[in-house]
Amino acid sequence: MRKDVRILLVGEPKVGKTSLIMSLVSEEFPAVVPYRAEEITIPADVTPERVPTHIVDYSEAEQTDEQLYQEISKANVICIVYSVNNKKSIEKVTSHWIPLINERTDKDSRVPLILVGNKSDLVEHSSMETVLPIMNKYTEIETCVECSAKNLKNISELFYYAQKAVLHPTGPLYCPEKKEIRPACVRALTRIFKVSDLDNNGILNDYELTFFQRTCFNTPLAPQALEDVKNVVSKNLTDGVRDNGLTLKGFLFLHTLFIQRGRHETTWTVLRRFGYDDDLELHQDYLFPPLKIPPDCTTELNHNAYLFLQSIFDKHDKDRDCALSPEELMDLFDVFPYIPWGMDVNSTVCTNDQGWITYQGYLSQWTLTTYLDVQRCLEYLGYLGYSIIAEQESQASAITVTRDKKLDLQKKQTQRNVFRCHVFGLTGSGKTGFLQGFLGRNLVHQRTIREEHKSYYAISTAHVYGQEKYLLLHEVFPDFDFLSETELSCDIVCLIYDVSNPCSFEYCAQIFKQYFMDSKTPCMLIAAKSDLPETKQQYCMTPLEFCRKHKMPPPQSYTCNTAAAPSKDIFIKLTTMAVYPHARLRCMCTCNRCTFCLCQNFLNSELVQTVRTKLYTVVFSRHITHADLKSSTFWLRASVGATVFAVFGFAMYRALLRSR
Ligand code: GDP
Ligand code: MG
Repeated sequence: MRKDVRILLVGEPKVGKTSLIMSLVSEEFPAVVPYRAEEITIPADVTPERVPTHIVDYSEAEQTDEQLYQEISKANVICIVYSVNNKKSIEKVTSHWIPLINERTDKDSRVPLILVGNKSDLVEHSSMETVLPIMNKYTEIETCVECSAKNLKNISELFYYAQKAVLHPTGPLYCPEKKEIRPACVRALTRIFKVSDLDNNGILNDYELTFFQRTCFNTPLAPQALEDVKNVVSKNLTDGVRDNGLTLKGFLFLHTLFIQRGRHETTWTVLRRFGYDDDLELHQDYLFPPLKIPPDCTTELNHNAYLFLQSIFDKHDKDRDCALSPEELMDLFDVFPYIPWGMDVNSTVCTNDQGWITYQGYLSQWTLTTYLDVQRCLEYLGYLGYSIIAEQESQASAITVTRDKKLDLQKKQTQRNVFRCHVFGLTGSGKTGFLQGFLGRNLVHQRTIREEHKSYYAISTAHVYGQEKYLLLHEVFPDFDFLSETELSCDIVCLIYDVSNPCSFEYCAQIFKQYFMDSKTPCMLIAAKSDLPETKQQYCMTPLEFCRKHKMPPPQSYTCNTAAAPSKDIFIKLTTMAVYPHARLRCMCTCNRCTFCLCQNFLNSELVQTVRTKLYTVVFSRHITHADLKSSTFWLRASVGATVFAVFGFAMYRALLRSR
């Protein structure tokens, strides 16, 4: 909002400019007035729009032309005063004052004008007939008003209109020549409609209208008012109301009506509530609320934000196949000024058989954006209307800033949910295959991905002792000169070599010795392409000896050349190591003999899985109907079950650690 409003009064001598100002201030008609009133400032709390307002008088007798021009350029709104009983003073409005003002202001940022016919007490008839053609000719004239300084008629109204012309200008909203709202305003209102259409059926029903009313005006809409609104629209427009709700056409019509009836502050209130500034652009303060992120802290979405994103997904997944088709995705991004996700997103997160982003993949991509570029995340949530729909202060309340990683390490526990893994390896060693394998894509599938759609990131979830965590894999480009702080900072490092390429291990050994030997970041060696015949690596030690020497887990065999989706085991191990960096899980083997392996196997065993499923079924079968599956209470109860299981898993893990 503006800081203040400056109103200038101009016009021929003796039309009553000074008297108008004095009447406003003293609430009585002054018998004698000076040529020119002193500039007065009305404090914010006594003006209708709560903005400090300066009122400036002009007198030809006391001021030079130069001083007048200066005042014109300083003014936010200019009242051209004429006297209703003086024809010449009306003529001068068009022959002198409007051209004089227009010469001194930019064509694109014309200062709004108000025509003021004073001394209405002296005449019986109105001057409106003479003035209306002038209004139609000059679009910069916001409004006209007839008043009398003598019997105090319309005095406060006059200054209220002036204030309103500055604070809620019609110019950006409405084109008087075409008698319709301008394209930018239509765009903004369309976005507002789409955000408010919670079920995305193209109609604002009573619930959505009430919610909209409450968010914009802080007051509920009386049931009768709701009906009145719909009646007005349906009377004037054939398809403005459908299924007892307001269509987009009806919504736009309603705003046109507001503006045409001089109630454009209503439209402005709506626009501003949804983040728009005076140029009908989304305000920077709205898109980028302040958020402090200390070093060594990461950013994640909190529970509320996931719920909101889930509702957005549900709203657009019209065929309920738990994936967003290209059309559904376009519809979701309709409230954005541009399409934020490129085709690379499809190779960064999980997709379904058609290559469409799944629910899981959708949440993963949001998690990725939040983690890597939180400002962008705030911006996107702003487009979706997060603060309005989720009834939050701003998008910043969607973000959890995790505590300093050093503290996590010290306290040996973490609240974080997203863990970052950097993947190193020579060109062609199988890094991309590894990343894509995490997304469940085998080699055949990977060959279908176009070069320009490839991604250096892959993100998905992995369960660590029953708890869902995000693992973010990042492929580091092999031919770097040195690694920056950010490239080194991650929760776990993967060093990939190709078992069929004798030169590929040496690269891993070098990277390890140069960057990670003395760091606290856990490292894992991956023997990729394990489906191919293994050749001896050209290095002074075998990979296994190297791991033993540097107290790393033994090399993990990996292949994505599988018939079905590649195995996820390795990613679960990586996530586990990232979550529990202290554990120094020497047992990353698949020996199936040691306690760790036995426990892991037990947890994953069919028996436990069956018991677990049975448990769920027994507990819930009594209540579950199809509708129940959808209701939140069901999921709440189900997740309690999952937590019980997670705690069980964790206790087991701790018992294990103690036994070591
Ligand atoms: P200015 O030169 O435009 O500032 O005009 P003034 O305020 O000095 O007023 C000029 C004359 O018109 C004074 O004699 C005022 O008393 C008189 N006047 C101002 N407003 C009104 C009004 O609303 N009705 C009547 N009847 N006289 C007015
Ligand atoms: Mg005067």
